[in-house]
Amino acid sequence: MNNSCVYPGSFDPITYGHLDIITRSAKIFDKVYVAILNNTQKKGAFPTEKRVEMIQKSCKHLDNIVIEVFDGLLVDYVRKVKSNVIIRGLRAVSDFEAEFQMSHINLQIAPDIETLFLSTLPKYSYISSSMVRELAYFKGDFSYFVPECIVEDIKQQYK
Ligand code: ADP
Repeated sequence: MNNSCVYPGSFDPITYGHLDIITRSAKIFDKVYVAILNNTQKKGAFPTEKRVEMIQKSCKHLDNIVIEVFDGLLVDYVRKVKSNVIIRGLRAVSDFEAEFQMSHINLQIAPDIETLFLSTLPKYSYISSSMVRELAYFKGDFSYFVPECIVEDIKQQYK
């Protein structure tokens, strides 16, 4: 087992909220696997390769990040990379129920893997990828919510 964690999500696209969780995790763990779920049931707004690229650009200041796409069970991916920690971000009470349920399921099927929650900084607590997508779709200004280096990528996607 190495001193690493897995931060899974859709990152469709990455926001300042995600970036804050990644940056803080990178201070605690030697290595952070940012794992994009390739959800076969739900096609995202951005192709997974584009999401990888946007996370790479946003995480240039960090040298202990690995960005990968995975499918299948999260706990299988966590084992594959020889980690035993899943990181999730909590924005508000509304996140809690689903996150709590998911952590219980994962604990039941993989008791050796722990889920740790980091609470968001209050200034990012209302940011979500879906809100960014909605603003981008209607040509609203979403630039407060995502790293500057990916604003153009998002605009291109909604052209
Ligand atoms: P998922 O579809 O798995 O919820 P997301 O990309 O929406 O994927 O979120 C990934 C993780 O990041 C989740 O733990 C989510 O709660 C967290 N997260 C999302 N937005 C924020 C934010 N603004 N601040 C902190 N954590 C966040």
